[in-house]
Amino acid sequence: MANKLMDKKEFYDKLKNIPKAEIHLHIEALPSRKFVSKLLSRQDPKYKDMANVDEVFTYDNLTQFIQAFLLVQGAFKEPEDFAGLMESARDYLIDNGIVYAEMFFAPTAFLKKGWQFEQIMDFFVKKIDEIYEKDHIKIRLLIDVSRTFGAENAQNNLDLVLKYNSDKIIGIGLGGAEIKGPAAEYKDVYANAKKAGLCRVAHAGEDVGPESVWDSIKLLDAQRIGHGISSIQDENLVKYLADNKIPLEICPTSNVFTKKYVQKIEEHPIRPFFDKGVIVTVNTDDPTFFNVNLLDEYWNLYSKLNFTLDEIKQVIINAFEVSFMPEADKAKYIEEVNKAWGKNF
Ligand SMILES: [Zn+2]
Repeated sequence: MANKLMDKKEFYDKLKNIPKAEIHLHIEALPSRKFVSKLLSRQDPKYKDMANVDEVFTYDNLTQFIQAFLLVQGAFKEPEDFAGLMESARDYLIDNGIVYAEMFFAPTAFLKKGWQFEQIMDFFVKKIDEIYEKDHIKIRLLIDVSRTFGAENAQNNLDLVLKYNSDKIIGIGLGGAEIKGPAAEYKDVYANAKKAGLCRVAHAGEDVGPESVWDSIKLLDAQRIGHGISSIQDENLVKYLADNKIPLEICPTSNVFTKKYVQKIEEHPIRPFFDKGVIVTVNTDDPTFFNVNLLDEYWNLYSKLNFTLDEIKQVIINAFEVSFMPEADKAKYIEEVNKAWGKNF
């Protein structure tokens, strides 16, 4: 099949059978439309009609996306709703053949409602255990301490993580408004997280130039970069990422949606990053809100970015390799990938 592309259905059918890891995905962006209907119809019965729910997710610009996000987030009325959210996440993971996921959760908006961090986490942890027992899918959380609300809030989030002290929470991330919250402000929080033995990632180079990626590496000592796409503008940075094996968590559809550095998938810098030896992974960021799943993103690589099947296999393996699971577990998962690949491709 050297030159001829596999057709879409065959590609999806086979790829679904390959065990995969996803390491950049926000749990708040994973409610199924059915679950959104349940949440929203408690305040407005019109959302019992799925056509009105679909309408919520029909948009083509960032402002409407944010409106939809806030509408759904505002519909969470009690911490128990997070159990339902994790059920939605489970369905997503199963549908995409994902066996390991590192998910962001940004607690600040909910803490502002007066909810307790422990209460929310108890629902998450219970579901994470259940999903592992029932479906053998392992989920770990990264708490997004956010660039939006300042360093004091971020340190407060970190303190809550340390106090909760669960092996289900493996580290922290830095999402939110990249322009508003430069990395320098979060230097101490990240140093404290490192001291406490937590893993550290940061969204950077999604909405700000390569300097933001440099800062996240040099000032925050981030172990992986979320997006990092503006790095392509700085040859030295691309070389630094490759030489120092600092992985990028690439989310192609998300970047095309925000249109900051990428106007269409075909122009996504994941191709040159890969060719220049940067370790790239493929992720969805906000599946429900961008109407995309992990199989779609791999299809994008294959059908629009000229990734060969062997290269796709490498990207799949990368996600396990740069995940924060113990080394012995990585080897086991990668062996499973190789086995399944041999049977399917
Ligand atoms: Zn993200």
